[in-house]
Amino acid sequence: MHLTDYHLHSTCSGDGHNTMLEMMLASYKKGVDILCFTDHVDIDYYLTGEADPNCFSNREKMREMYEEALSCAPKDMVVRLGVELGEGNHDTQRAIEIASSPEFDFILGSIHNLKGKPDFYDIQYRDEKFCRELIDCYMDELLELARIDCFDVMAHIGYPIRYTRRAGFDMEINLKTYGEKLEQILKTLIENGKGIEINCSGFRNPLVGGTIPTIDVLKLYKDLGGEIITVGSDAHRVDQAASGLAEGFDILRRLEYKYVTVFEKRKPQFIKI
Ligand SMILES: [Zn+2]
Ligand SMILES: [Zn+2]
Repeated sequence: MHLTDYHLHSTCSGDGHNTMLEMMLASYKKGVDILCFTDHVDIDYYLTGEADPNCFSNREKMREMYEEALSCAPKDMVVRLGVELGEGNHDTQRAIEIASSPEFDFILGSIHNLKGKPDFYDIQYRDEKFCRELIDCYMDELLELARIDCFDVMAHIGYPIRYTRRAGFDMEINLKTYGEKLEQILKTLIENGKGIEINCSGFRNPLVGGTIPTIDVLKLYKDLGGEIITVGSDAHRVDQAASGLAEGFDILRRLEYKYVTVFEKRKPQFIKI
């Protein structure tokens, strides 16, 4: 059986702590045998939400670090290069251009900040109404992103709750609270041949305590006919390598998914689980 990780970061991301080589070896030790690096390229600058013309300046560093990791990769491990492309809907042309870079096997499509706003991580949340308004906009932007051909898999649907909860507001993004919008997003992704991920970072965050998106969303994607699903630790340091992956795979099996997806040169491959 394979253990795949299609969401992890290195020092090519501003918030990463270890090189690709270190992350690869730490993941291998934990049993991962197929992994794909997905360092950040965010169309916007995270503190202002304004366009960042230098957002892809880590390209060369990524290539070099990836080469270094590849040259030391264990023989029975597959190591690929992808990117976590943030806010593709804020500058569609730029996003499509970055996503078409030939070195990438895989593109995660994320939204970390709304148009003209800082990253959800950096917002001062005032009250529940304020949180709800932001999340309403987030859902609208996800739908916008779902329609753009600049990624393969939509990342962490539900990202803002990590931070609204940290501020003490117990917001939820699930079928009960945003069912209609979630269904619209998932249907659009399926029609456009895009997938979703099981982001396992929530297992190491007691405020989340589970997958992002929630299990009911993972189930709905399958019920609607969705087949492209990746599993990712979203690790940013070696001690997070592979964290939550086993739980993520358990959930896939419980929901009766038969395959997990990996990508090579932007083409999905389906691996029996
Ligand atoms: Zn992300
Ligand atoms: Zn990430």
